[in-house]
Amino acid sequence: MSAADTQQVNAIQYSRTGGPDVLQYTQVPLPAPRSGEVTVDIAAAGVNFIDIYQREGRYPMQLPAVAGSEGAGTVQAVGPDVTGVRVGDRVAWESLPGSYADAVTGPADRLVAVPEHVELKQAAAVPLQGFTAHYLARDSYRIQPGDTVLIHAGAGGVGLLLTQIAKILGATVISTVSTADKAELSSRAGADHVIVGYQNIPGTVRDLTDGTGVAAVYDGVGQATFDDSLASLATRGTLVLFGAASGPVAPVDPQRLNAAGSLFLTRPTLKDHVASRDELLRRADEVFGWIADGRLTVSIGAEYPLPDAARAQDDLAARRTTGKLLLIPE
Ligand code: NDP
Repeated sequence: MSAADTQQVNAIQYSRTGGPDVLQYTQVPLPAPRSGEVTVDIAAAGVNFIDIYQREGRYPMQLPAVAGSEGAGTVQAVGPDVTGVRVGDRVAWESLPGSYADAVTGPADRLVAVPEHVELKQAAAVPLQGFTAHYLARDSYRIQPGDTVLIHAGAGGVGLLLTQIAKILGATVISTVSTADKAELSSRAGADHVIVGYQNIPGTVRDLTDGTGVAAVYDGVGQATFDDSLASLATRGTLVLFGAASGPVAPVDPQRLNAAGSLFLTRPTLKDHVASRDELLRRADEVFGWIADGRLTVSIGAEYPLPDAARAQDDLAARRTTGKLLLIPE
């Protein structure tokens, strides 16, 4: 393909916000790469909660929109003024809008190289949840050896990666999950204690920490767990609220942080932790390095053909899944 051509690709598009049924498998025009851009043939696209929030209209999008932002694949065409990326390179990304498709065009500086030892499907499962788990553990609350931390939804995409990273950094991990099968997975990822069913979380955490509470809670569940998360912290502990799988948290009176022991509350997002090229590459290097060393394992819970994107999102929202969900172009 010459850089001037526009091609038609199969994609999952939505023209209005709503439930999974608004997602349509259709053909869309894909622009050729302009200055600083590349076009990538997608081997696998990642399915993430943000895709659902966008489809529902919680994060407004310009419509019609092709869903998705994460994936891995092979560079098909390179626009002018692109350095460091060549046709045929194997790459992965967390933020190229329109990734639920056969191919996507976007800025070359959002790509990271996929190391030789990593398959493209495995690579597609890494950027969004893996770099998130990295900044949560390294920056939002910096895990120190000897810390005990609580990780909600320990068998989820972020949960399995964050548990392994917390173990690499020397923490004791307590996780929460909804079922015995998910508990098994969370334990295999390294969780030292697993609370099944989300009942009496603060009491169990106190029992497991000699009454102290944990240094940090990583909470991507949100509404359903927020109060228990605050009540599980040690004095001067940190609640890292990073998602809303069960719904958004209601406004919080800061005085609660005082009353519960000089707590810290933060609500971080990935884009602010990969904003510069250097930071993106630093996270990619460490995460892919741990994968190369065999210290970090990526768990792909399910693969769906691209036309089944609605079913994949529905399964994720209904908590029927574990690990990473991938869409595979046909
Ligand atoms: P998961 O694979 O973790 O799926 C969500 C899990 O949350 C479910 O499997 C379920 O596990 C648990 N859960 C508990 N209550 C509910 C509920 N009412 N409805 C749905 N799920 C529930 O998803 P991800 O790893 O993709 O994402 C986890 C969270 O991280 C999301 O909130 C997402 O938005 C957030 N996120 C935030 C980022 C950031 O930078 N701030 C970046 C990436 C993700 P169980 O059945 O065991 O309870």
